Amino acid sequence: MKKLSEFLTIHEHVEFWTGTIWYAGHCGSGRQPSSAKYDPARNAREHNGTDFAVHARGDLRAPHDGLVRYARWQNNGAGHAVTLNHGDTLIDVGERFRGEVRRVYTRHLHMSPDKKWQTKSFKVREGQQVVRGQLLGTSGTSGASAGLHDHCEAVVDAPYQPAYKHMNLDTELIYTGATKGYWGGGEQDMQMVKDMQQALTAAGYNPGSIDGIWGPQTAAAFEAMCKDAARTGNDLPHAVVQVYAPPA
Ligand SMILES: [Zn+2]
Repeated sequence: MKKLSEFLTIHEHVEFWTGTIWYAGHCGSGRQPSSAKYDPARNAREHNGTDFAVHARGDLRAPHDGLVRYARWQNNGAGHAVTLNHGDTLIDVGERFRGEVRRVYTRHLHMSPDKKWQTKSFKVREGQQVVRGQLLGTSGTSGASAGLHDHCEAVVDAPYQPAYKHMNLDTELIYTGATKGYWGGGEQDMQMVKDMQQALTAAGYNPGSIDGIWGPQTAAAFEAMCKDAARTGNDLPHAVVQVYAPPA
């Protein structure tokens, strides 16, 4: 039987992961929430996955063998998205459901192309069996997304129940091995955003003010930079790569 610990890590199944969490990709984005399903103060929905910062058009692969449940555009904000049903899996990572056998689903959202009406670029069809490491499609910023990222999630048993019934696994822990530490906009995060804003300014993009807050203008500047890089085939500016360098 499959074990959750055998699923490919994010480095192994998401090409061009920058090594960081993208916490401004869309409403409620970042790491999985620790509590509220809906926060009226922030007008934010529950977020059942982790947003991994990526560069454009990187290959997204199946983290394990499975059946393609969905491979289509979804109007709920997911954009072009793929859901895999991995079948019965021993949960041997994390705390939730540990020791139990559960049916595990994984999802990749906001895949390329970026608009509904553009030609789809899925490499799989619904109903198809895929093997561990098989190409699903490429990364993008489709649906309710303000910038390039791979929203990746792992859930058990009931992938499309209402939000309050979601039974999500700790996606970040499964794929990166990172211990718990959900981002809440702490000082460390603000410093990172400041560094990024300075790097964007140095590269000739306007992120608004350098204030450590990832607002629409900073997101737009970052997106413009990523799209320029994808269009020209050039690497991201050196200053930005320094900020977003993968951990050693
Ligand atoms: Zn997300």
